[in-house]
Amino acid sequence: MLRDFAQEILNAEARHLRRRLCIAESPAETTITIKGRLLISMASNNYLGLANHRAVKQAAMEAIAKWGVGAGAARLISGTMTPHEQLEQALARFKQVEAVLTYATGYTTNVGLLPALSDRNGLTLVDRSCHASLIQACRVSNATLRVFHHNDVGHLETVLSKRGKARPALVVTEGVFSMDGDLAPLAELLTLCHRYDATLLVDDAHGTGVMGEHGRGTAEHFGLNPEALIQMGTLSKAVGTSGGYVAGTTSLKDYLINTSKTFIYTTASPPAIAAAATAAIQIIRHEPERRARLWDNRRYLHEALQGMGFHLTRTQSPILPILVKSPETALKMSQALYEAGVYVPAIRPPTVPRHSSRLRLTVSSEHTKEQLESVVQALREAGEAMRVL
Ligand SMILES: *Cc1c(COP(=O)(O)O)cnc(C)c1O
Repeated sequence: MLRDFAQEILNAEARHLRRRLCIAESPAETTITIKGRLLISMASNNYLGLANHRAVKQAAMEAIAKWGVGAGAARLISGTMTPHEQLEQALARFKQVEAVLTYATGYTTNVGLLPALSDRNGLTLVDRSCHASLIQACRVSNATLRVFHHNDVGHLETVLSKRGKARPALVVTEGVFSMDGDLAPLAELLTLCHRYDATLLVDDAHGTGVMGEHGRGTAEHFGLNPEALIQMGTLSKAVGTSGGYVAGTTSLKDYLINTSKTFIYTTASPPAIAAAATAAIQIIRHEPERRARLWDNRRYLHEALQGMGFHLTRTQSPILPILVKSPETALKMSQALYEAGVYVPAIRPPTVPRHSSRLRLTVSSEHTKEQLESVVQALREAGEAMRVL
């Protein structure tokens, strides 16, 4: 018998956990049009305004004219085209590593990378706050999974030190945590991994283009040698396009080409997307002022939210989550902000743990001061009306 899907949705609705699609009638920008209404958007990961950037679109359009739309085959068959090769070289230079391998999305990168890095005898240690794609990736790996307390180096050491000597260990964390906006203590984690002969994998989805003097990511922010760890990331956030990547050594790249299922058994991403991502990387390299504006905007909004007395996470990034605990309050706040012309998503379980529902604001380099002032004003009014302040 088929499950009663309609009933399950009603159950979710009663607990304020139902999710709905909202249709954007406009490109990813600092504003969003929904049902004909123009709102300020605090809901996009388009940190540097590259998703709808003239030069990035131009690169995509020229590549469509030259290479067509679909790649026609998987990367190992005939789907690897010159734009894919150029993107991997540009990313390797940007990340200052020997080699980069790209995948269709960040999610499938993780699901293909973790099983390739671990074996039946291995141990994978993952931070409790890691993204769903990493948790899913651990589930499809053969290795034994252990979860360590969020950013708790001491707890990780306890788990690592108890493992059998011959047992390979992989430590998995995020550079910038996607739902809290805080950073992993990467230097300490790397030292620990050296001491216990473990490999460190960092998911830098929200760090790429955002963290570090040159935007190379969280490893650059902490001054780490990029070749001492394995980094993955996505091209769908600050890079403004689509796709995932793994940055490491040439032999790691070769190994993944030969073993990683989500790389092998899927059609190559459209060549125009690769060309657009290469153009976006050039902008990230040559326009550091975008990152400066991003951090200015982040500082302004963070100070304003703190000043008003909102309960924030310990964020250190342009992700600014306001904790409101109950999913109902999160939904009502989001609705009140919508009425006031500001789009802020309510993030609820299972994306975040119970009793930690939140409004998650992400800042872009392209938000104007006037837009941010309107956001602050709308938050103050909604916060007072809902007694969150
Ligand atoms: C967004 C995200 C991903 C997935 O990347 P996509 O390219 O959107 O599939 C993976 N890990 C983290 C931490 C993310 O925030």
